[in-house]
Amino acid sequence: MVGADGRHSTIRKKAGLKAEDYGAPMDVLWFRISRSSSDPRQSFDCLDKGRILVMIQKEDYWQVGFVVKKGHVEEAKAQGLDSFRNYTQALAPFLKNRVNEIRSWEQVKSLEVKMNRLKQWSGNGVICIGDGAHAMSPVGELDINVAIQDAVAVANILVPAFKKGRPTSRDLKKIQKRRNFAVKLLQRMQLFLQNQLIAKAFKGKGKPKIPWFFGIIKDFSIFSVKIFRLYLAGHTLGDTVNSSYYDFCEYDGS
Ligand SMILES: Cc1cc2nc3c(=O)[nH]c(=O)nc-3n(C[C@H](O)[C@H](O)[C@H](O)COP(=O)(O)OP(=O)(O)OC[C@H]3O[C@@H](n4cnc5c(N)ncnc54)[C@H](O)[C@@H]3O)c2cc1C
Repeated sequence: MVGADGRHSTIRKKAGLKAEDYGAPMDVLWFRISRSSSDPRQSFDCLDKGRILVMIQKEDYWQVGFVVKKGHVEEAKAQGLDSFRNYTQALAPFLKNRVNEIRSWEQVKSLEVKMNRLKQWSGNGVICIGDGAHAMSPVGELDINVAIQDAVAVANILVPAFKKGRPTSRDLKKIQKRRNFAVKLLQRMQLFLQNQLIAKAFKGKGKPKIPWFFGIIKDFSIFSVKIFRLYLAGHTLGDTVNSSYYDFCEYDGS
């Protein structure tokens, strides 16, 4: 059985698989604001004295992350929508009246940030993947890509195993072996950035300094670090589904 049931995975719990927790200093309130032709042309962060606003450029809107200290989502909401809009505008003044596009808390989705990883991704005939095996921090905006690459590894390892008969626990372990290094490396980079930038920004001593090696990346933004993307795009560590497996996996509509 493949446990792809997310960060609160029931399958993981039932299989008795244990995760190591790495902690995260923040939670995030996500919302959208329309883009205007006069806006800056790339993703970026607004960091100032204990406040962080992450602006991720999408086709015709900004995906905005209002970053709060861990466990402070309800407190931020309790201060009211006006205060939320004011904070947003203070950090990104070019938005001006567009902050009024946030009309209710229903437009604002809260993400309880977690970072953890299973020691053993498989056991008792179960393999967990995606958030069920490793909740990622939003740093680098990688989560969904990493979950998809896990699924690709599952296809490439389990389809040939099913063709031969029944997958064994060794086949399940091969999936972790295939993915563990990449996930571990990306989580370590996320932890580093969380501690260097986000935790320091919360201490409220002005703008934290971006480490020089990230500073050389054009349009650096904490939540969309391009170096991560380059890594993910790299087929040396990433996977693509072997096209000969498509027929095997074909959805028959039932
Ligand atoms: C508000 C928010 C914003 C995010 N923004 C980004 C972003 O910008 N970029 C990014 O890369 N990632 C983002 N993420 C994270 C990203 O969504 C996840 O990392 C990714 O979806 C993980 O994929 P997954 O398949 O492991 O789990 P999920 O996408 O969580 O899928 C799990 C599925 O299992 C189902 N399920 C769970 N339990 C059961 C059950 N008992 N029975 C049946 N079905 C069940 C769920 O309904 C769900 O459909 C965001 C997450 C949140 C909450």
